Amino acid sequence: MQTQLLINGALVAGEGDHLAVYNPSLGSVLVQTREASRAQVDAAVASANAAFDGWSQTPPKDRATLLLKLADSIDAHAETFARLESDNCGKPFTAVLQDELPAVADVFRFFAGAVRCLQGSAAGEYIPGHTSMIRRDAVGVVASIAPWNYPLLMAAWKLGPALAAGNTVVLKPSEHTPLTTFKLAQLLAGIFPAGVVNIVHGRGASVGEPLTSHPQVRMVSLTGSVATGSRIIEGTADSVKRMHMELGGKAPVLIFDDADIDAAVEGIRAFGFYNAGQDCTAACRIYVQKGVYAQFVRKFGEAVASIKTGLQDDPATEMGPLITREHLERVEGFVKRALEVPHIEVVTGGKRAEGDGFFFEPTVLAGTTQADEVVRREIFGPVVTVSEFEDEAQVLAWANESDYGLASSLWTADVGRAHRLAARLQYGCTWINTHFMLVSEMPHGGVKLSGYGKDLSTYGLEDYTVVRHVMFKH
Ligand code: NAD
Repeated sequence: MQTQLLINGALVAGEGDHLAVYNPSLGSVLVQTREASRAQVDAAVASANAAFDGWSQTPPKDRATLLLKLADSIDAHAETFARLESDNCGKPFTAVLQDELPAVADVFRFFAGAVRCLQGSAAGEYIPGHTSMIRRDAVGVVASIAPWNYPLLMAAWKLGPALAAGNTVVLKPSEHTPLTTFKLAQLLAGIFPAGVVNIVHGRGASVGEPLTSHPQVRMVSLTGSVATGSRIIEGTADSVKRMHMELGGKAPVLIFDDADIDAAVEGIRAFGFYNAGQDCTAACRIYVQKGVYAQFVRKFGEAVASIKTGLQDDPATEMGPLITREHLERVEGFVKRALEVPHIEVVTGGKRAEGDGFFFEPTVLAGTTQADEVVRREIFGPVVTVSEFEDEAQVLAWANESDYGLASSLWTADVGRAHRLAARLQYGCTWINTHFMLVSEMPHGGVKLSGYGKDLSTYGLEDYTVVRHVMFKH
């Protein structure tokens, strides 16, 4: 299995600490790896810095050609990637192959096209005898830090816009899930000039911090927890780097009396438990209007109880395990504490499954209120809360009363209400009568503690560029 880093165009063995990588479905070690040493982090940044001038001056058409080649190569190796991702994350194999791999390749194709169509202000004479023009140029060396929930997809979200825009990159996957990024390193080595993209591996403290705080890094792009985002911002404040932060979420889902309840049940069954709920946009904080509350809780409980958990290769498996034993214990802790609260009812699930894998039952907690920990904090697991509300004003206030601001959805047949609320929900995205749908053309990103900066879309591409003014005296 490929476990080498990519530094200055060469695949090299890590020289730092040893790290075991697990199969969370079995709770057993998949492969032993080695982190990048401090010297290897420095070498990766130095090679990205040296490659910057050449890559940033490469015409967009030629950068796009290499991104398209990468997309084709990912398609050609889709089964291998899906196998690695599925084994490393416990995700159902078919879901990775059919849902994630096409999205990964599409991101590179989208940015390959988008960088050839950047828009800006017209040049003009704003002082007589002087012509001003706007340029959009690459920022420099980008340190990209990815999470474990969609390892390859998050790598694509980071690499696609950064490379398209002419930046050079040092990417660090999560220490828990490096395997598809290692495989990607092999493909990248054969496509991009040396130093344009580098892959290092390791934990936040030993590899992430030296990377993000490196003086030659001009921008840090993180998808991860709020705690990690704050720590990176604080740790790099002296060097005033550009920050792109995609942090946590606690998506509210507003279901009104006039909604199609069966569609909502089916939707939240899928969008609350996809990837075992380890998704920053997961439909996890449900508010149901009082007229349909009892009906929704009954139907939703039955639907969620039918979710089939199991091993990756069983075609019937809909939901896999949590990523690590520590995360399983964290999720279990939230549910145990919730069970001590008298007004919270467990509709289905509520405990970890038997066996060595890190499985937790798909869980629905009803009767929850705003003050409850399970309503306020990000659990990042297969646990959905259901609270009852009276009217539009109340649910809008409750939905917005959150530290997070990434994704939200509302379910109603009233178009006026949908517009009214979509304009007032303080979230980066609001879906109407659906949830969780992401497309390369549309931006993804949050407000409040969910961070700032956009992934995907031309807005994402612009985030990896700097606007510059050039003036000519006639
Ligand atoms: P995490 O913050 O623990 O780790 C994310 C990455 O940061 C990992 O690669 C980790 O090694 C690295 N890291 C940790 N400490 C670091 C440090 N001090 N310096 C540099 N790098 C450091 O997050 P996670 O547990 O991997 O992922 C789950 C979190 O990610 C959840 O909070 C989830 O909401 C969030 N997430 C957000 C989005 C989004 O688009 N907003 C998408 C996926 C996940």
